[in-house]
Amino acid sequence: MSLSLSAEQPATPDAADDGVWLECIECGETFAPFEDVRYTCDECDGLLEVRYADLPTFDDFEGEGVWRYADALPLEEGVTTQEGATPLYEVPRLEDSVGVEALRIKHEGMNPTGSFKDRGMTVGVAVARELGVGRLACASTGNTSAALAAYGSRGGMETLVLLPAGKVAAGKIAQASLHGARILEVDGNFDACLDIVQELAEAGEAYLLNSLNPFRLEGQKTIGLEILEGFRDDYGEFPDRIVLPVGNAGNTSALYKAFRELVQAGALSEDEVPKLVGVQAEGAAPMVEAIENGADEVRRWDDVETRATAIRIGNPVNAPKALPGIRETGGTAISVSDEEITEAQRDLAREGIGVEPASAASVAGLRKLRAEGIVDDDERVACLTTGHLLKDPDAAAAAGNDPEPVPADTEGVLEHLQNE
Ligand SMILES: *Cc1c(COP(=O)(O)O)cnc(C)c1O
Ligand SMILES: [Zn+2]
Repeated sequence: MSLSLSAEQPATPDAADDGVWLECIECGETFAPFEDVRYTCDECDGLLEVRYADLPTFDDFEGEGVWRYADALPLEEGVTTQEGATPLYEVPRLEDSVGVEALRIKHEGMNPTGSFKDRGMTVGVAVARELGVGRLACASTGNTSAALAAYGSRGGMETLVLLPAGKVAAGKIAQASLHGARILEVDGNFDACLDIVQELAEAGEAYLLNSLNPFRLEGQKTIGLEILEGFRDDYGEFPDRIVLPVGNAGNTSALYKAFRELVQAGALSEDEVPKLVGVQAEGAAPMVEAIENGADEVRRWDDVETRATAIRIGNPVNAPKALPGIRETGGTAISVSDEEITEAQRDLAREGIGVEPASAASVAGLRKLRAEGIVDDDERVACLTTGHLLKDPDAAAAAGNDPEPVPADTEGVLEHLQNE
């Protein structure tokens, strides 16, 4: 199987352009990367992956941010606003309270538009430019639209975003709006938006930049590469486990691909590959269901609900790439309640790290797995926090302290403080 951790490096097909090609993960058909617009396999409609004739090792990486990893990417440079190189925060109190040997927070909210989506867009929008397409489009729970609007503008392209009406956090709409995207508010959920935008893309109306687009996932591989290098520098070893929120499972797929390629390049041994743990909200947990049932496919959930709007997704499009990633690394998937998510958001905030609700799912999931004894106390773990607190100001205000009205004089303020 092409997605196994021990898969051999494939022979370079005629379709390759400068050692880069697209390959179907289901039937193995290969395609030229930058000639025609294509999101899935012409033969069987399977998901595509970018493949390389030469895979880099750690020694090949230089510089900072996503483009440090240019040798692992399909282009030499992107449409960039200096994405990547996000902090890998220490959180000593949280580490103690969860009870693991080491806990680090990879805070993707520190990217230019405030989420990891920038890593995908710097590559995806550059590929769009290479293909010569006019208009870019995505369906989004919010952050993809913010990133697409910003990177599309930077690349001088028109952008169109489809959002589920009433279900997108305020900060994200504000971004898409100011960066000049046309915003279509769909009377339906994210999965309905994605169905529509896929059909628009198939009809040639726009170039699709959802995570179904294999080039976007190439940029997102760099999260995994940064975590590996960060742990190696600080502990002399790679992490035992990486815990991340799951929506469409793009990151889960991308991190696994990063590890698989390092194994193929001989830069990482199979037993050094971190276990991947996907966390979903209880109200939107089709991946967790598939992992728990040992199923090869994910059953689409039609009704999804969670406060963590970024992962309010019932039909994770990258499941065929992500399920092998979780299984082959010896990881797992778990769901958490909205209350557990909010509690984890507060835990992170107490360490000075501000995240939106979906991001906190990783920490909530780790705490639960540790309590269940599935994560051991001697493990070194990285939790991914995917988006910034300011993305969802309403959720932050609801989870935090209420402002206290006081009179406009010092005496009155002192009195108020003493009356606690
Ligand atoms: C997009 C997004 C996710 C989901 O990521 P997938 O790669 O689709 O699983 C999680 N959290 C935030 C904040 C996001 O913006
Ligand atoms: Zn195919």
